[in-house]
Amino acid sequence: MKAEIIAVGTELLLGQIVNTNAQFLAESCAEIGVDVYFQTVVGDNRGRIREAFDIARKRAELIICTGGLGPTQDDLTKDVLAEYTGRQLYIHQPSMDKIEELFRSRGTVMVESNARQAHLLTQSDPLANDTGLAVGAALTFEGTHFILLPGPPKEMKPMFKHYAVPWIQSKMGGVQPLFSKVLKFSGIGESNLEHQLIDLIQTQRDPSIAPYAKEGEVMIRLTTRAASQAEAESRIEPVEREIRSRVGEYIYADEDMPIEQAVLRRLGQSGRTVAVAESCTGGLLSDMFTAIPGSSQVFLGGVVCYTNALKNQLLDVPLDVLEGIGAPGAVSKETAALLAENVRRKTNASVSVAITGVAGPAESEGKPVGTVFVGIAREEGTVVEQLKLSGNRESIKLKAAKNALYLLWK
Ligand code: ATP
Ligand code: MG
Repeated sequence: MKAEIIAVGTELLLGQIVNTNAQFLAESCAEIGVDVYFQTVVGDNRGRIREAFDIARKRAELIICTGGLGPTQDDLTKDVLAEYTGRQLYIHQPSMDKIEELFRSRGTVMVESNARQAHLLTQSDPLANDTGLAVGAALTFEGTHFILLPGPPKEMKPMFKHYAVPWIQSKMGGVQPLFSKVLKFSGIGESNLEHQLIDLIQTQRDPSIAPYAKEGEVMIRLTTRAASQAEAESRIEPVEREIRSRVGEYIYADEDMPIEQAVLRRLGQSGRTVAVAESCTGGLLSDMFTAIPGSSQVFLGGVVCYTNALKNQLLDVPLDVLEGIGAPGAVSKETAALLAENVRRKTNASVSVAITGVAGPAESEGKPVGTVFVGIAREEGTVVEQLKLSGNRESIKLKAAKNALYLLWK
């Protein structure tokens, strides 16, 4: 099925916001076998939105719009599509009930424009909004399928995934649905992973094997078309087994989740806790942990000890380890071990992790950019791993934190 994505919003044209919705939708379409041929951005303007519909209809069977479902006068997408298709707008009662209930519970007065978020076109299917108020819509007009999604990504993504995708698949007639399984890797780079699996990647067609890398993580998606989940699994299983036999030690999850979540889950399952001492990552690891809901069950907290003075004052690393001629230095095996052991002792955590290194752009203590030591302290002892990371400051920080997580997970 040929598709076009239309992002509606003057803010996008002015460069005030980035069109991340198009990126998400394009990636999601590829996953379900929908081919995106064009992406359009159009402002909040009736005539030009209409023009965008006109053009898209000539070259796509499926038009996916985001933005402009809100309550205000510049939110025009539903109005324009109603006009364009000659359909009426009516109040979708379940959505209206939800909006009224929200205003009642907040004790605020609902203004008439809020009802616009419950508007639905006649002869269309509602797409529920589980994380916001504006109801989405799916409809077919003279052979072209239209999907209307809200602009805010946190509303758009779940609506697309849970409601629009099944609707689209039901229109793809004859084509069996796609099933995919994700394997998440840590402690191995994308090129090394690809190298170890290159023969499989090149020859394996069903399921297909696609490696991806983003935000310091690598994953492989195995995809097949099948009549049922069981059929898909039976086809994916032998390929997965082969991959595990080669690089299984780096697989930390068989679903799409960041490694910090896998680490917290594993520690939590055995009732353990974790604390951190961060130097060059400056709190990044703590930020990753606290981004996971429920992390307080496992993540106790820790110390950002960026300077030598704080490494000494807060975590008792002796100054003669940190500085002076012939001292190991702040970026060293010794410092990483002491930071990890001392933060563990002070917090009573089951396990602790310390990160100290040179994020760049200049070398430090005569150690090259990308030199990072990760210390892990547990009851049974302390281990320190030295990493040689590449990239700019931001990417070294990210890789240092992700590698530390891998060592915690191992
Ligand atoms: P609202 O009810 O918030 O008005 P809406 O469906 O009317 O939602 P817009 O008014 O177009 O959507 O956009 C609301 C916000 O959603 C924008 O300020 C922006 O933060 C985000 N947003 C909109 N479109 C995009 C996009 N294409 N990519 C990323 N974010 C977007
Ligand atoms: Mg709006």
